[in-house]
Amino acid sequence: MSSKVSMEKIVSLCKRRGFVFPSSEIYGGLASCWDYGPMGVELKRNIKDAWWRTVVQEREDVVGLETSIMMHPKVWEASGHVASFTDPLVECKSCHLRWRATEVDSNKCPKCGGELTEPRMFNLMFKTLMGPVEDEAGTIYLRPETAQGMFVNFENAVTISRKKLPLGSAQIGKSFRNEITPGNFIFRTREFEHMELEYFVKPDTAKYWFDYWVRERFNWYVTLGIDKENLRLRQHGKEELAHYAEDCYDIEYSFPMGWSELEGIANRGDYDLTQHAECSGRDLSYYDNESGQRYIPYIIEPSAGVERSFLAFLIDAYQEETVEGETRVVLRLCPSLAPIKVAVLPLSRNEKLTPLAREIHKQLRPNFMTWYDDSQSIGRRYRRQDEVGTPFCVTIDFQSLEDRQVTIRDRDSLAQIRVPIGELEKTLRTKLSGEPFDVSSLWATRQK
Ligand SMILES: [Zn+2]
Repeated sequence: MSSKVSMEKIVSLCKRRGFVFPSSEIYGGLASCWDYGPMGVELKRNIKDAWWRTVVQEREDVVGLETSIMMHPKVWEASGHVASFTDPLVECKSCHLRWRATEVDSNKCPKCGGELTEPRMFNLMFKTLMGPVEDEAGTIYLRPETAQGMFVNFENAVTISRKKLPLGSAQIGKSFRNEITPGNFIFRTREFEHMELEYFVKPDTAKYWFDYWVRERFNWYVTLGIDKENLRLRQHGKEELAHYAEDCYDIEYSFPMGWSELEGIANRGDYDLTQHAECSGRDLSYYDNESGQRYIPYIIEPSAGVERSFLAFLIDAYQEETVEGETRVVLRLCPSLAPIKVAVLPLSRNEKLTPLAREIHKQLRPNFMTWYDDSQSIGRRYRRQDEVGTPFCVTIDFQSLEDRQVTIRDRDSLAQIRVPIGELEKTLRTKLSGEPFDVSSLWATRQK
C-alpha cells in the first residue's frame, strides 16, 4: 500500500507551520541537517515522552540512563565499529559525487553517466580530536549509537537498581553517522536521536523476550495512532544479519518513498558483553542466584529513531478533506503527541473580548501546552490549528461575557460544545485523555 501523501506536501507543511526548517538556512542550508521549530520541538518531546513512559516509567524491569556522546576510543574497537561500521563507497570520476555501492546498478554514475571508481570501505563514524593537541592519540568518535554507553554500564545498572535479570537500560540521545547518501527529508540524516533499550536476559530466554519486544514495539506505534495497514514486520535474511546477531526484525512504515525501516529489534546474543569483557579486562558475567548459574547475558535491543517516528506520525496523521467547499488540511495526531493541546481564540481582536480570553489562556497555561491567537478571521485560525493537529480550540465570543461560557471545537468532528468557564479545564482534560466528543450531552451545541 503506497503512502497517501507526498513528501513534498509534508516538507511544505513542516516549513509553513514551524515543524522543521533547513539548518543554517540564511547561509543556504547544510546538507541533511534540520532545525526543529516551535511545533517540531513539541512533537519530538511528546514522542520521546511517550517512549520513555512505555519503556521506562510503566515498567519495573527497565532503568533509564544518559551516557556521554564521546566515549573511550577502545569502546569502538571492542564493539567492532572501527573495523566494520562501513559502507562500500564509489565515486564518479567526472562529477565526483559519491554513492553507496549498493544503490548503483552499473559502473556508471546515476547523475552524469561518468565512470565510477572501484568500491572502497568508508567508515561511517565521525572523527574528532579531543584536547588541544592535534595528534592521533587524541582521536575520538562521535557515537553512532547510544547502545554502547549502556553495555559498558551494565554492572552499574544491575548494582544500582538492585534488580535481577531480565533487566533493561534505556536511553534517548543524539547519535551521529557520516552517511554517504543521506536524504528523504528527516528520514536519513547524519545527526539524529536514538531511543534505545538494551534488555539483558538469561540466554535460554532470549527467544521469548525477542518475540515479546517485537510485539511490544509494533503495538506502541499502533497505540499512538499509526494505521496498522501502514506498518509491517520484516525479518532480516541471513546475509543481512550483523555477524553477531541471532535474529533481527525491522518494523517498517509505508513512507512516500516506499516501505522503510522505522525501528529495528535485534537479538544480539552475548556478543556485546563478551567483547567488552575481553577488551576491558572486566568480568561482565552475571551470577543468577535462583539457578545458581553464572552466564554472559544475551541482549535484546529495540532501537528506534526519533526523527523517523516523527515523520511517520506526521504522514499517518495527515489528511486533506473538503469542508464547506474548501480544502482543509488536518493532522489527526493522537492528542498525547499533538504539539499544542488547546488553542485559545477570541472570536475577534476586540477590546471587550481580549481580557476574558487572556484570563482563560492564563488559567489553562499551567495545565496544557496552549497557543493564543487573535490575528485574522476565526476560520483562518481554526485552519492553522488543524494543520498543526491541535485537538481543541476554545473560542470566546460576546455571549461569553454574559453567560461565562465558552465554545470548545473538536478538531476531528468539527463539533462544538459550550461549557461554563469553571468547568473548562476539567472538560478539556477528560477529552484529551480520550473521552469521546459527545455533542448530545448536557451542553448546548452550535453549528461549526
Ligand atoms: Zn557523475
